[in-house]
Amino acid sequence: MRNLFFILISFLLISSGNLFAQSKQIVVVIDAGHGGKDVGHETTIAGHQDEKHLNLKMAKFLGGYIEKYMTNVKVIYTRTDDSFVSLDNRVDKANNSKADYFLSIHCNGNDSKAVRGTESHVHSMSAAKSVTLARQIENQFSSRAGRHSRGVKDQSDLQHSLQVLKFTQMTSVLVECGFITNEKEANYLNSTYGQEIIASAIFRAFRDFVKKQHPDISFTKSETTTSSTNGSSTTNANSSENLTYAIQIASSKEWVDTDDARWKSLGMTITRVQLNTTSAYKYIYTVGNYANKLEANAALPDIQKKGFKDAIVVKR
Ligand SMILES: [Zn+2]
Repeated sequence: MRNLFFILISFLLISSGNLFAQSKQIVVVIDAGHGGKDVGHETTIAGHQDEKHLNLKMAKFLGGYIEKYMTNVKVIYTRTDDSFVSLDNRVDKANNSKADYFLSIHCNGNDSKAVRGTESHVHSMSAAKSVTLARQIENQFSSRAGRHSRGVKDQSDLQHSLQVLKFTQMTSVLVECGFITNEKEANYLNSTYGQEIIASAIFRAFRDFVKKQHPDISFTKSETTTSSTNGSSTTNANSSENLTYAIQIASSKEWVDTDDARWKSLGMTITRVQLNTTSAYKYIYTVGNYANKLEANAALPDIQKKGFKDAIVVKR
């Protein structure tokens, strides 16, 4: 009898241990670069914002996507407003919260206005996980977000080593989302549209990466988060797969510049997506970034009226 009791107790302990494992979560620190008296790169373009403001907006979009579309991820921000946070404090916050991931969001600047593109920085090329995550972010930028990727860089590429990467103890990537000194890129980074595309590219890379890293944790939000009241039900259709819809306006066999004259009548930012296909049509061109199909459908007639009558709604 006593033995049976012990077996029961052990069984209960093991079960609760399993329950515990299921509720395991990861922690990501999102670091909006600069803030307060530290403005980062200053803009010289009228109506544009300095780097610190753009970083904060994209950091919040990114954190918002993670919270909305993933479970079991705790998001911690190093700042959520325009306050000054020292580099030491950022590092301490990440280390003290035992974060698994650290994503620092920045925009670049250069004396030459021609320089443009995204970069993802790691402290060292020997930090394998950070390098992999950084590569995936750059892949998302170039293949899905239509950005010009300058690739993954480590401290040897920089005049200064990035303190936030040097002293954080977890997988850490510092993302330079583009150059605010390049007028075209600056326009993009200053638009809500551009900020959302950048943030969703980083989000997809992060989501795919952590899913692989932690096969024991479920990050997928239930498709049917249904709350049913007197017969009507609201379904959370915004699962991670539905993050963005876009409107496809054309496809092509050859690479066409997103600045091409043929798109001008739309007055919208064109995103070129390279398809992984054996078909002759290797590229599609999309506009817009919509949270759901309804929103995309609502925007469609206007685009068709502007000369793209075959435009269709697609998943990004
Ligand atoms: Zn910066």
